[in-house]
Amino acid sequence: LCDGLAPRRDLLIEHLHRLQDGLGGLTRDVLAALAERLRLSQAEVYEVATFYHHFRVLPDDHAAPRVTVRVCTSLPCALAGAEAVLARVRAAVADDPAVAVEAVPCIGQCHQAPAAWAGQRQVAPADASMLAAIVASGETGPRPLPASGAPAQPHDYAQLERLLRGELRPVDVLRELEASGLRGLGGAGFPAWRKWATVAGQPGPRDGVVNVDEGEVGTFKDWHTLAHAPRPALEGMLIAAAVVGLERLWIYVRDEYPDVRALLHEELQALQARLQAWRQRYPVAFGVPHPDTPGQRPLLPAAGPEILLRRGAGAYVCGEESALIESLEGRRGLPRLRPPITAVRGVFGRPTLAHNVETLWWVPTVLRDGGAAWAAAGVRGRVGWRRYSVSGRVRRPGCYLLPAGSTAREVIDAAGGMAEGHRLYAFLPGGASGGILPAALADLPLDFDTLADHGAFVGSMALIVLSEADRARDAALAMMRFFAHESCGQCTPCRAGTTQALALLQAPVWDQTRWAALSQVMRDASICGLGQAAPNPVDSVLRYFAHEVTP
Ligand code: SF4
Repeated sequence: LCDGLAPRRDLLIEHLHRLQDGLGGLTRDVLAALAERLRLSQAEVYEVATFYHHFRVLPDDHAAPRVTVRVCTSLPCALAGAEAVLARVRAAVADDPAVAVEAVPCIGQCHQAPAAWAGQRQVAPADASMLAAIVASGETGPRPLPASGAPAQPHDYAQLERLLRGELRPVDVLRELEASGLRGLGGAGFPAWRKWATVAGQPGPRDGVVNVDEGEVGTFKDWHTLAHAPRPALEGMLIAAAVVGLERLWIYVRDEYPDVRALLHEELQALQARLQAWRQRYPVAFGVPHPDTPGQRPLLPAAGPEILLRRGAGAYVCGEESALIESLEGRRGLPRLRPPITAVRGVFGRPTLAHNVETLWWVPTVLRDGGAAWAAAGVRGRVGWRRYSVSGRVRRPGCYLLPAGSTAREVIDAAGGMAEGHRLYAFLPGGASGGILPAALADLPLDFDTLADHGAFVGSMALIVLSEADRARDAALAMMRFFAHESCGQCTPCRAGTTQALALLQAPVWDQTRWAALSQVMRDASICGLGQAAPNPVDSVLRYFAHEVTP
């Protein structure tokens, strides 16, 4: 099953995927044989196999399932009746022991809730009979996407070619990025140009990481962007490689997006052919000496940058860039202590430019239109464009492109307004981590930093809309369940804090004294953003919806 895959430690997760795809699960014997093949201890292989939710380590006397059905029960899907779908599909396949059914956290299809996943096929919206029929048919491979097939998505790579021709210099690119105000769109919002300049200033060799591991509840903009138009992101990635001087490019795609992974696989094969053509056309950019440009730094390695597509394995925490890098190196996705930052010491110790895929997607547009023009799209003093993932009680859940600085009410209007029979009660501006705000604050701009005074943030711009049929305390409890499930367990404040919080949040009246002490420790002493932000939805409830949790 692992033929053609080098026996290297960094490929451990790829090996585990191959084995599980082929065998349906991982037995002790299989893990032991893999450890021997990779020259690792059995403990190292076992700890990785048991860390990631999508690997199924089987007890000795258990047969592997033929197919696994995963039903998302995160907030947007729960609002759309996911628990009922889960119960019905369990009943529908109860007679077939070869079918496993699991409740799982967000699978990035919140716009078509309730969403599920049968084998490698995303099914959304899902119902039990549809899932049972797919399982019975055996058609559980990835579904085709809108952008599948080259004619569907013409793209000219014009900005990359300007750079390779020498019409645009790396310094010009950095200047335009700075003028655009483009920030990291994975959630952190760090200025892109500054990150590029920092990595470019480090000694080589340097690597690049494209983060397609969006797992924040309610976020599906990266899936949407790649499913409809992957090439601008690939162009942005190559522009970054040329400007910053990146030798290897890693694309890490969450396991929940097998369709996007298949699409990228095809796109990358086509891109190799393009790279060959560009080498012929612009040899200087690939380091071939030329009498007119003696000593010019090559923009790309002679053979083009090495591009490696990697598959996640169901761990939300791997969206955090240092955890993602651990995963790329074949280990458990445990966030690293900082410093050093990733820009200085990232993949295998190399200075690394790590970006969310949407940030790179915008780079060709910024260069085509000019940074100032891109910035001017924003409203209310904000700059640029934002893609909002909108789910919950709206008429048309989906991914909407609006000017940065748009308000929650405007984003909801873009999604067709509130769903029939529902009135706005509350909204989560930034998925699981960003807090919960009341309807009265729906006219605030939704952008980086604009909600800080209200104890909230937008993160990856996932807007989950609640109506008067819902309770904020239920949303907070759902989010805490998510964090408890996804905590990597590395640090006690997060591991034990999320578990203790779950008990506290299920009481009809919340113990606020105990919560104050618990949340303080979680915020102050957790290693990464997961544990630090986990208290946000609960604090929001106490601040804006106290009537739900007090006598
Ligand atoms: Fe892991 Fe949570 Fe600690 Fe982050 S805060 S390192 S997820 S235990």
